[in-house]
Amino acid sequence: MPLSSRLAVDGGEPVRNRPLPYGRQSLDDADIEAVVEALRSDWLTTGPRVDEFEAAFAAYVGVAHAVAVCNGTAALHAAVHALGIGPGDEVVVPTMTFAASANCVVYQGGTPIFADVDAATLLLDAASVEARLTERTRAIIAVDYAGQPCDYTALRALAERHGLALVADAAHAAGAREGDRAVGSLADLSTFSFHPVKHMTTGEGGMITTDDARLAGRLRVFRNHGITSDHRQRATQGAFFYEMVDLGYNYRLTDFQSALGLSQLRRLESFVEARGAIAARYDDAFAEMPEVRPVAVRAGVRHAYHLYPIRLELHLLTAGRDAVMAALRAEGIGVNVHYIPVHLHPYYRERFGTHAGMCPHAERAYEELVTLPLFPAMTDADVADVIAAVRKVIDHYRA
Ligand SMILES: *Cc1c(COP(=O)(O)O)cnc(C)c1O
Repeated sequence: MPLSSRLAVDGGEPVRNRPLPYGRQSLDDADIEAVVEALRSDWLTTGPRVDEFEAAFAAYVGVAHAVAVCNGTAALHAAVHALGIGPGDEVVVPTMTFAASANCVVYQGGTPIFADVDAATLLLDAASVEARLTERTRAIIAVDYAGQPCDYTALRALAERHGLALVADAAHAAGAREGDRAVGSLADLSTFSFHPVKHMTTGEGGMITTDDARLAGRLRVFRNHGITSDHRQRATQGAFFYEMVDLGYNYRLTDFQSALGLSQLRRLESFVEARGAIAARYDDAFAEMPEVRPVAVRAGVRHAYHLYPIRLELHLLTAGRDAVMAALRAEGIGVNVHYIPVHLHPYYRERFGTHAGMCPHAERAYEELVTLPLFPAMTDADVADVIAAVRKVIDHYRA
């Protein structure tokens, strides 16, 4: 066997020597300059750039209110709190997501109820949600898995029919659209994450968007210890008095992070376009490989491609997903798995009695999923390396 076709896991030459991560931020001089300018100003934490960032983000998604917080998990917690969810309340959450989408319900003493996803798109399945509803259900949290908007038309209709609140965990979907409506404007509350692997970053950071002024007010109080005014308002009024009206947290975003967020937001469209172009190259390459199946994309949406997961047709291969992943990593490709279904984690099994068999589509997908590297700064050569490594590993394990 020629050296180049022997797998790196078996001692062959890897496709690349410098490992390619699955995700990575893109920071330019303008981003860095914006942060430096903020650091040289009078404000480190809550200052004018927080307001500016919120206003710009609200305008971008087309809603009345955006509330900045310190990370995407805090955004979810604030959303669940704003809806008044507490002990005895149930919230339906897809299992094909990051644990934070469900943990936020538990923070407030509520019970997450795991729904299955559509077998082709891996997005929350409205029929599965409907089957999980009880008289205790208060809300649905939808997750725009991989960057693709859920079927919000169906989910909104379902929520309205049953008097439920609809939250979008849009951590994957900044820049995505359903028709001409931006993700962030499609649910009662939408939450975003600005972690470095997401579309735009503030280091750590998050945002909640809504058209509801009352919910926005609750979010603002919650992120500041449950206090109704912030220190800037008191400073301008020359007043010391404040009232804590609710139990809140310190979930504030700093001014210099907001400066970075404003600068990154200006680049978001170009980031989403770059991701889409890479995804299109992957789609073309894998169309010729029957062993590799991309996740289906709904008609009429703009997919933001936070992730590019592929599904392995395991019956056409002599190795399982874990072996394929190990082989790809040895080739220098930073593959990952998104996600281990949340209801299979020990915490949920032990605390909430969840078990295998509850969400068959997600459980099946989990066995087959491999997330390939995808970030705007990938070069053409990086993309070619990923395709070459997948082809090499698949050729080797073809049944
Ligand atoms: C990243 C992510 C979060 C959490 O965001 P952080 O900013 O890391 O707290 C929540 N939900 C989903 C689906 C995510 O991918």
